[in-house]
Amino acid sequence: MAAKNTQVLMKQHPKGGVTEQDFEIVEREIPKPGPDQVLVRNIYLSLDPYMRGRMDPVRSYAAHLHPGDLMIGGTVGEVIESNVPSLPKGTYVNGMLGWQEYGVAKANELRVLDPKVAPISTALGVLGMPGCTAHYGLMEIGQPKPGETVVVSAASGAVGSVVGQIAKIKGCRVVGIAGGKAKCDYVVTELGFDACIDYKAGDMHAAFKAATPERVDVYFENVGGEIMEMVFGRLNSFARVAICGLIAQYNGQPYPFTGMRHVLVNRAKVQGFIISEHMSYWPGAITEMGGWIKEGKLKYREDIADGLRNAPQAFIGLLSGRNFGKQLVRIGPEKL
Ligand code: NDP
Repeated sequence: MAAKNTQVLMKQHPKGGVTEQDFEIVEREIPKPGPDQVLVRNIYLSLDPYMRGRMDPVRSYAAHLHPGDLMIGGTVGEVIESNVPSLPKGTYVNGMLGWQEYGVAKANELRVLDPKVAPISTALGVLGMPGCTAHYGLMEIGQPKPGETVVVSAASGAVGSVVGQIAKIKGCRVVGIAGGKAKCDYVVTELGFDACIDYKAGDMHAAFKAATPERVDVYFENVGGEIMEMVFGRLNSFARVAICGLIAQYNGQPYPFTGMRHVLVNRAKVQGFIISEHMSYWPGAITEMGGWIKEGKLKYREDIADGLRNAPQAFIGLLSGRNFGKQLVRIGPEKL
């Protein structure tokens, strides 16, 4: 075991775009597990857009970080010391242990993983929070029907890629929106979407209109800004819009949205949601998606940065689209 616990702290609240100066890397003592706790060696850290919101000192659905706090984050790791009989040494677990090499937790704060069922990293992606977000937002809010047109932004990402593939399984026409040719090619060729609009390629409005001849019945929103404005302009009567994320605006960029007129005239339903408020939904969704992965109907892609010290840089990249697939950080080897 290493003598110290490397941690990444939020040094200061970002001013606009996140920079590496907003983080501090420190070495602390490895924590000791209490009587009802285990010590976990973290193997993978999940990097997610919601972390950007936690770095701002504003009111939101969850408490924000203060300077000097450990960066929060989902992790997958191995129990290396245990005071909990149901979690012996060697158990793989998923928890929220943050940007650090080692963490302690109680049994009810951890999900036990079976590496024989799926690679443990998937507990942070397709078979974890992003996958459940996609499943819940599409099925519960979008309520897609066969033959309808479903549109999803950030289509090659952790959430968007799953949204589009589930919509295909449900018999819909699926149009993705993503940044760059490589991501769009992947979404159509590998994931089976019907079309993908490269919003960086030029006239996205004309391309989007051509790709949605029957307009849009379900919109799964991940980015906001100009893309959201464009899609609202093509909503069908009684369309459903799941507001999942607005990543284009997380660094404080304002956008003068004028799309509410389309909600009114189309009698559309628009609903935001936060997946951590729907924990009872997760087990069923994970079971169903695990089955689809085994059947080859649901594919996933991971983008893995190496080493905890590279987490700040990878996080900055995630916020500007440098990631291609679910962004993870490998903190240590799966087996020592
Ligand atoms: P992704 O894996 O999709 O990565 C983020 C992607 O966002 C980037 O790869 C990039 O893709 C796109 N992006 C970044 N900046 C911009 C921009 N300015 N304009 C357009 N696209 C941009 O992340 P996730 O799948 O983890 O998250 C997707 C969304 O879902 C986020 O908004 C996130 O906050 C939200 N979310 C919400 C949850 C909830 O409970 N409501 C839970 C989980 C996620 P590209 O290169 O294609 O532009």
